[in-house]
Amino acid sequence: MTLRKTPRLFYALVLAIGFAFSACDKDDDTTTPDTGTSVGTDVPDVYKKIYGASQIYVEGNYIVVKSTGLPDHKTPYYKGTQWESALYVNDTRSGFKMNSNTILSFSYVFKLPKNPTVASTHKALGAATIGVAINGVPLFNQYQMENQLLTPGAGEYVSFDLYGGHPTPFSEYHYHIEPSYLTASKGSSSLIGFLLDGFPLYGPVENGKTLTSSDLDAYHGHTSATADYPNGIYHYHTTADAPYINGNGYYGTAGTWSK
Ligand SMILES: [Zn+2]
Ligand SMILES: [Zn+2]
Repeated sequence: MTLRKTPRLFYALVLAIGFAFSACDKDDDTTTPDTGTSVGTDVPDVYKKIYGASQIYVEGNYIVVKSTGLPDHKTPYYKGTQWESALYVNDTRSGFKMNSNTILSFSYVFKLPKNPTVASTHKALGAATIGVAINGVPLFNQYQMENQLLTPGAGEYVSFDLYGGHPTPFSEYHYHIEPSYLTASKGSSSLIGFLLDGFPLYGPVENGKTLTSSDLDAYHGHTSATADYPNGIYHYHTTADAPYINGNGYYGTAGTWSK
């Protein structure tokens, strides 16, 4: 009798402790944009620039970045959402055609290699999501539906808002091109995100020159010293011309993302 009762009590205890822990872990900042970032003590300084993350920590060989994906800037796509009063703006630019989608909050988890290295085989971009901007918004590749290259003035490009983003039919706000809110607020040569292979993404200007894709390699980057990496690192740049953020695949080995 006692032999049968003991395990039951044990499991009840384990369950109770488990509940207590999950209650403590509960993330309470998933519904408001930019509520401050919890950063692990061993996280290198450069990742602290991802100010829109809810959490950043080291897990083995990866830097884990969690975010809601909600833009911290105004956009017409906040219309009809709980954030409308603070963050909706009427986008009156000529040529802008709002799509019918809206914005929701997600629990994004991006896992970036902590020590990114060049891959022996450069993998093509898989899903549309290719990285994370410093405000926690996902970065997407250069294609709209059915692998059609996004082109200014045509297709889905016309639905990019005043800061270069728009939501998917699943309400995921994202950037395919330069996040102009970030380059305006941080500077056009500043770090504006990381791709999934862990290599940093910079704005379009370097040493006073506005770069185009022809200044970059097939993956849309090159190696040189940057403000954040004085010893030099491979890095990507946004450019006004296609493919905008990334070229024909990752320079390094991509980590993972989920939501
Ligand atoms: Zn898109
Ligand atoms: Zn550069």
